This record gives sequence, C-alpha cells and structure tokens, in this order.
Amino acid sequence: DPVLELQGIAKCYNPGQPGAVNVLEYCDLSVAAGEVVALVAPSGAGKSTLLHIAGLLDTPDSGAVLLNGQQMTGKGDQARTIARRREVGFVYQFHHLLPEFSAAENIVLPQLANGVARGAAEERAAALLGSVGLSERMTHRPAQLSGGEQQRVAFCRALANQPRLLLADEPTGNLDPATSETVFAALMALVRDTGMGALIATHNFELAGRMDRVVRLDTGRLVTQS
Ligand code: ADP
Ligand code: ADP
Repeated sequence: DPVLELQGIAKCYNPGQPGAVNVLEYCDLSVAAGEVVALVAPSGAGKSTLLHIAGLLDTPDSGAVLLNGQQMTGKGDQARTIARRREVGFVYQFHHLLPEFSAAENIVLPQLANGVARGAAEERAAALLGSVGLSERMTHRPAQLSGGEQQRVAFCRALANQPRLLLADEPTGNLDPATSETVFAALMALVRDTGMGALIATHNFELAGRMDRVVRLDTGRLVTQS
C-alpha cells in the first residue's frame, strides 16, 4: 500500500490576480512503503509547494492527497494536524532545531507533544542518535554541533514519532560534498531500517541517482526519469 498518493494535484497562488502563479498543473505521484523517491526540479518549479501539500501543511486547489490510503483532502485542520504529527516527518535544508535545547531534547519534545511518556521518549532519542553515530553528542546544543551533525539530529527528530512518510527539502543542500555523503548515508540507513516511504527533493543528481526512483517536476507536472 502506498504511504503517499498525490492524484491530480493543482495549485495556483493569487488566482485571478495579476500576480497569479500557476505552480502545479496536474501532479500524480505514489510513494510505496520502503521506497525512496528523489524529487528534482529547477528552482521555482514548485518543489516546496508540492512537499508542503504532501505533508498537509498546505492544501491543493484540486486533486487528492492520501496518506496510508486515507483520503486527507477535505478533512478539517485538526484532523490534518493530527495526521501530520503522527504520519509525516519533515527535514529541511536548514535544521530548524530548537537552539536552547540539547540534541536529545530536540527529539524528546515532539514525542511528548504526541503523548509519549518521557522515559520512553528519552530511550527512543538515544537509540535514534546512536543509529546515526551521535551517541557522544546527546547533550550538545545545536550550536555546538557541526552542520552535518545538526542535519543528522534533524533526521532523528523527523523520525521521533515513527512517521510512515519522510519528506525532505534539500536535506544536504547546505553541506559540503563529504558531509553530504555522510548525511545521505545516515538518511538512507534510517529509512531502510524503518521501512518508511520517503520523498526527497535534491539538486544533487548523483545522490538522486542512488535513490529508488527519480521524478522531475517540470512545468507543473511530475515526470518519471528512471
Ligand atoms: P521551489 O521550492 O521549487 O523553489 P516553490 O514551491 O517555493 O518552488 O515556489 C514555486 C513558485 O510559486 C515560485 O514562483 C514562487 O515564487 C511562487 N510562490 C511560492 N509561494 C508563494 C506564495 N505564498 N504566494 C505567491 N507565490 C508563491
Ligand atoms: P522555505 O519554504 O523558505 O524554503 P523551509 O522550507 O526551509 O523554508 O522551512 C520553513 C517552513 O517550515 C515553512 O515554509 C513552513 O511552511 C514550514 N512549516 C510550518 N509549520 C511546520 C510544521 N509544523 N512542521 C514542519 N514544517 C513546518
């Protein structure tokens, strides 16, 4: 069963106004459990818009979004927020970690918000950080970590609540090639371990080619590249 299905997604900003931008025309996409799909697009093509719609942060003008087979289009804000918290993990180009909290606490807090007991949340944070080689960095604050370490913590945070779908917007875009490689390897290992589905936007064609499938966003439509 697909973890994510987009069916005929369309999105226009400022419709009917002089500044109207028809970003997405008709986007179809299916991401299966355990599948890692690369999303490549020229800047401004609508990649962030598509990821925000897939992650229920934004709504399409038409078309359907299904998470784990559940129709999300037309659901109220509260149902969408609950589904997003439980089923979707986000990673961005910049880590967006809370600066005043430790690496571990950044992974504990979203679990507490989701009703997990503190002890269990701390255990999961430690296990996740261990799996990306950061056992020695648990009590460090984001500013005390390198860029690659910050991004690995951000992946752990995205996975804190065991989502079925990971959405990543240029997760290695801010890193040098060697660090990108480490971060990408950690990401792939995490995804493979959990069996989640992932949609990862990247400008890095070499990394895209190592994912299971590449889709290109071109003039508002998704085209399968390989
Ligand atoms: P990408 O992530 O591929 O760079 P975006 O999805 O951020 O592209 O944006 C696609 C297009 O939509 C761009 O032309 C951008 O300027 C425009 N756009 C994005 N968000 C808004 C908005 N809130 N209002 C109006 N136009 C927007
Ligand atoms: P940009 O859209 O300028 O590229 P980023 O995508 O790097 O910025 O990160 C900021 C984004 O975080 C905002 O566009 C916003 O839509 C998104 N966002 C808002 N609420 C949440 C949330 N609860 N979880 C994850 N991301 C969120």
